Amino acid sequence: MILLATCSFCNRDAVYVRRYSGERLCVGCFIRSIEKKVRRTVSRFTMFRPDEHIAVALSGGKDSVSLLHVLGTIEDAFPHASVSAILIDEGVAGYRREAIEVAEESCTQLGIPLHIYSFSDLYGRSLDEIADASKGRGGLSVCSYCGVLRRKALNVAAKDLHASKLALAHNLDDEAQSMMLSLLRGDLVGLARVRPVLEKAEGFVQRVKPFCEILETEIAFYAQVTGVRFQHRPCPYKETSMRSDVRRFITLLEDKHPGMTYGLYHSLRKIQANLEGLDAKEGLQLCQICGEPSSGTICRACQSLHDLGLTTAPST
Ligand SMILES: [Zn+2]
Ligand SMILES: [Zn+2]
Repeated sequence: MILLATCSFCNRDAVYVRRYSGERLCVGCFIRSIEKKVRRTVSRFTMFRPDEHIAVALSGGKDSVSLLHVLGTIEDAFPHASVSAILIDEGVAGYRREAIEVAEESCTQLGIPLHIYSFSDLYGRSLDEIADASKGRGGLSVCSYCGVLRRKALNVAAKDLHASKLALAHNLDDEAQSMMLSLLRGDLVGLARVRPVLEKAEGFVQRVKPFCEILETEIAFYAQVTGVRFQHRPCPYKETSMRSDVRRFITLLEDKHPGMTYGLYHSLRKIQANLEGLDAKEGLQLCQICGEPSSGTICRACQSLHDLGLTTAPST
């Protein structure tokens, strides 16, 4: 760690320069600043009530493990709230094992119960089997199938645990990228739907994003200085997509012009304000196969498995 003179808030040695504000922070002040920012986001968007049961979607990566730690810390101030963690084991040989170990370690350390749900149990197929079935079909990428199946799995798991909120670790960069992608694709409904608190809808556990105003680099530094253990290796199915190009573009601009990501994020949020109502999930029905909420008669998860010639296991 390089020492950078004195902390702007106390007399300790600074270890981090917040380039967009010019603040120099010591380890303690940096950690407190992140936790304070999350508290502020949580209260500004009224993400949680004091008696909430919050399920954290834990992947084992730096963002979700850090979120678990921050929420575990904030929870101490709310004796009637509870936090649990959900890990979706997609079934990727040689990859998920490490994430499960990381998740178990963090949950034990924080005294948070960990619940693991697998694609094999929920869908009767692992992601490896789904990847094999998708070969040469010219349909969606493995990553896209996984995204659809993970989203449903998290909702099924959160309902199974009677959670009242599902906390996702999407950070400021993720949110700016998602909005930018929708904008570039001319998808205003998609743009309207990227929100800190997702629209309430029947059959869905409401999703919230307490990290939506924190830069990815700051979460990475938080994980480093708090000693949080996380999985570094990306999923072997991770693809280079249009999102990667948008990510590179925003990272380049942020590097040259610190604070630009905040600027972009807040401008897009202002545009969203004029799209009020577009994000409403109207016309939701129950999937005829699994009973989960769906915009059509069959949900996207069941449709994907059907398209691949894979039957679904009956859902609980
Ligand atoms: Zn300090
Ligand atoms: Zn379905």
